[in-house]
Amino acid sequence: IRKIAVLTSGGDAPGMNPCIRAVVRTAIYNGKQAVGVMQGYQGLIDDNMKDMNTRSVSNTLHLGGTILKTARCMPFKTDEGQAIAYKNLKDREIDALVCIGGDGTFTGALRFSKNYPDIAVIGVPGTIDNDLYGSDYTLGFDTATNTVIEALDKIRDTADSHDRLFFVEVMGRDSGCIALRAGIAGGAEAIMLPETETALDDLIRDLESSPNKSSSIVIVAEGDNHGGAYDIAKIVKDRIKSYHTKVTILGHLQRGGSPSSFDRILGSRLGYAAVNALLKGESRKMVGLRGNVIVLTDLEEALANHEFKLEDDLMQMMKVLSI
Ligand code: ADP
Repeated sequence: IRKIAVLTSGGDAPGMNPCIRAVVRTAIYNGKQAVGVMQGYQGLIDDNMKDMNTRSVSNTLHLGGTILKTARCMPFKTDEGQAIAYKNLKDREIDALVCIGGDGTFTGALRFSKNYPDIAVIGVPGTIDNDLYGSDYTLGFDTATNTVIEALDKIRDTADSHDRLFFVEVMGRDSGCIALRAGIAGGAEAIMLPETETALDDLIRDLESSPNKSSSIVIVAEGDNHGGAYDIAKIVKDRIKSYHTKVTILGHLQRGGSPSSFDRILGSRLGYAAVNALLKGESRKMVGLRGNVIVLTDLEEALANHEFKLEDDLMQMMKVLSI
């Protein structure tokens, strides 16, 4: 390995910049060249790349989003697009690629590696959803959860002052990880998750059975199977007429922001580990954190598996602590 390129793809996530910084500096420390690819796979196709030195990543550790930018790139899903990307990498004598992103990013990376095995590829899990196999945590999940908790604390002031029932919708189309953790840390009365069937009847019964609560917050993950927070609020309002319900959709404010200490350290660790894996001759793998140990998982295996990341004890505890 002589020249390592790094890109961020899919949705941006806090912790991507610490990871880019770690990739660049670990590569240079080991006498390799580092290249930053702009806008994910699009930059490979447009030959939009820049040589990085140790100072290219100065003062980026605390920044949310990604300094390399990210984009959804349709051409990379075609063999023609992948061929152009390969040619551009070869012309620049790049022989290794670190791809930071989610499922889609890994799918593209694996396919590229099968088409062009002479370019080593390592994936880094970067998505606020925490929905990837092979790592207990993904970059951005911790920061996003902290952001949601901060918002919940503010919403609770109003819920409390007006005796209102708030339905707060958080990100998570297929994954309730943010909803579950934020629900516990923010003291929600109930959480609606995409992974589990929360019966609306049970929710309404629970709400009715705790009438002395001065405020109530129900967290709804956007992928919940009853529809969004507005739909659920409407059903509940129709059933419990005495409640004043309000809906807040937190939306994209959950994606950005300065990475938490956890995400800065995770990003640094994973970036460092990705380069070290490449130096050992690894390819077609992802780096991840399992039980506080850095592990490598085959991209193929990671993509074929789905992990249920909602801890049983948290699910049980939620019911107890919200009475
Ligand atoms: P995420 O990585 O967060 O899941 P996307 O699903 O948008 O985000 O995927 C990111 C990028 O990965 C896509 O824009 C595309 O360039 C690439 N990609 C996704 N699926 C494939 C595929 N089947 N083949 C090749 N490239 C893919």
